[in-house]
Amino acid sequence: MSVHPELNAQKKTVTRPMRTRFAPSPTGELHLGHAYSALTAWKAAGQSSELFCLRIDDLDHTRCRPAYTKQIKDDLSWLGLQWAETPLVQSKRLQRYAEALEKLKTDKLLYPCYLTRREVNSLLSAPHDGSEQAPAPYTRGLLSQEEQHQREINGHMAAWRLDCKAALARTGTLIWQDYAGTSHQVGIEQMPADRGDVVLGRRDIAASYHLSVVLDDADSQVELVVRGADLETSTPLHRLLQELLGLPTPVYLHHPLVCDKNGKRLSKRDHDTSLTALRAAGFSPADVIAMMPDFIV
Ligand code: GLU
Repeated sequence: MSVHPELNAQKKTVTRPMRTRFAPSPTGELHLGHAYSALTAWKAAGQSSELFCLRIDDLDHTRCRPAYTKQIKDDLSWLGLQWAETPLVQSKRLQRYAEALEKLKTDKLLYPCYLTRREVNSLLSAPHDGSEQAPAPYTRGLLSQEEQHQREINGHMAAWRLDCKAALARTGTLIWQDYAGTSHQVGIEQMPADRGDVVLGRRDIAASYHLSVVLDDADSQVELVVRGADLETSTPLHRLLQELLGLPTPVYLHHPLVCDKNGKRLSKRDHDTSLTALRAAGFSPADVIAMMPDFIV
């Protein structure tokens, strides 16, 4: 394991402990990168079990396994982390997500999308002028009313997409802060990383990653969202959803991702950096922490 030098260059003085969370998906073993994320959140919470929440993000029912949930808890306990109350489990909160989705439908900010995944993919891979932004999925109006109706009759389920531009037109420019105190904003003129009209209600369940995390963070009174830099481009959308649903806005901390010696980010397939493998090889928690980049909180 080696670490990019810039990871070690971003040390920051700790401010007051904040209520935060670690929200893994039980789709595999935790690796060093997850442990780094969990420990960053734990430190930001002042190492207080009352301020550190564990959440199980198990909406991806095709890949999540209860055995991994147990392993996650074992690994975190082994690292010395303790969490506040019974962990919130996303698959038990579908009603909550469905209600929020209904509210956004009533507010006329969602529209049904009957396109198949393959149709959306071919839309996205359609040739475009290289100088322009790659196409993003704005699918409203791509199918005629008759075609939508036909698909509905044939038993096709719709995904529900947020009309992002209509939503931003309604909310106006929104701001939020990161842990270092820097302000960020999103507005109709500054929609960073255009992702089109994102799906908030999947075809199979009336929920999605984006919808569930903003509701969960709010319902758990999370003040500081700690997560990897790979999720930073989702934050403007999360801020927008908070505004539409009348939820408070947490502070955000996106930490650098832990990479292997070739600079490739760790994945659940890299078994040799899994906590289970490191434990089995006889490493102690202190050894594992010593393999990580310096902490930025
Ligand atoms: N469950 C997500 C993951 O494992 C993290 C969700 C979040 O931090 O917003 O990547």
